[in-house]
Amino acid sequence: MKGRLLQTSRLTQRFGAFRALDGVDLDLIDGEIRAVIGPNGAGKTTLVNALSGMLRPSSGTIDFNGHNVTRWPMARRARAGLVRTFQTSELFPALSVAAHVELALGQGRPTLRRSRWFEDRAERALQSAGFADRRTEMVRSLAHGERRRLALEMALMTGPILLMLDEPMAGLTADEAQAFIERLRSLEGVTLLIVEHDMDVVFQLADRITVLHRGQVLAEGEPSEIERNADVQAVYLGSERHAQA
Ligand code: ADP
Ligand code: MG
Repeated sequence: MKGRLLQTSRLTQRFGAFRALDGVDLDLIDGEIRAVIGPNGAGKTTLVNALSGMLRPSSGTIDFNGHNVTRWPMARRARAGLVRTFQTSELFPALSVAAHVELALGQGRPTLRRSRWFEDRAERALQSAGFADRRTEMVRSLAHGERRRLALEMALMTGPILLMLDEPMAGLTADEAQAFIERLRSLEGVTLLIVEHDMDVVFQLADRITVLHRGQVLAEGEPSEIERNADVQAVYLGSERHAQA
């Protein structure tokens, strides 16, 4: 039987008087792909930031893999397997692909860098990431979609148990996005939380969907349930009308 991997209880994130997250209860099951959707400003990015440890929650708790991580700093969460993907802005334009792989693999363990063991591991990582033939290229010469892929592969190299992705396919071409989706679907033993606005992508990937609205969970369920949920339809239609007005 699959167990709970992550649970938040009444998770709240205030910015001044404003609650970007307002009492969020979220349960993730080991091995699932969970999509988080919701209109602009719903709190999706704030949720990822709060779970990754970039933000300290105002109140509520986060339990991950048997630990209460609510007060853990980001690096400690990442070492425990609670990881968000690198942003492409965190890549180094003037460093090679191979150097990035070494950075990802060596996190927190710089002394292992020069060992034969580490070099073998880096080689295997380059191969399985599909970047072996681009290893000497500077990141600045990679296409946007390739940078996104590299950022994903780097996150995977850190050994995540739960990997969180905030709109990872924004700005990708249709082909790049499809390759990205296939890569995510091919992962085994990694639980995914993915923020995504493209409903086609969400429906291709997600086992379950959580809908955020104004910092609260508006609905949660399987894609087919969410698709016909009247509250969800109202929020999306409402925000689209708003956007067009
Ligand atoms: P989403 O990713 O769903 O579009 P965000 O989580 O980025 O939404 O933002 C949710 C709300 O919180 C927005 O109204 C946003 O303006 C506000 N917000 C996000 N981060 C901050 C911050 N650091 N300071 C103040 N307000 C913020
Ligand atoms: Mg966002």
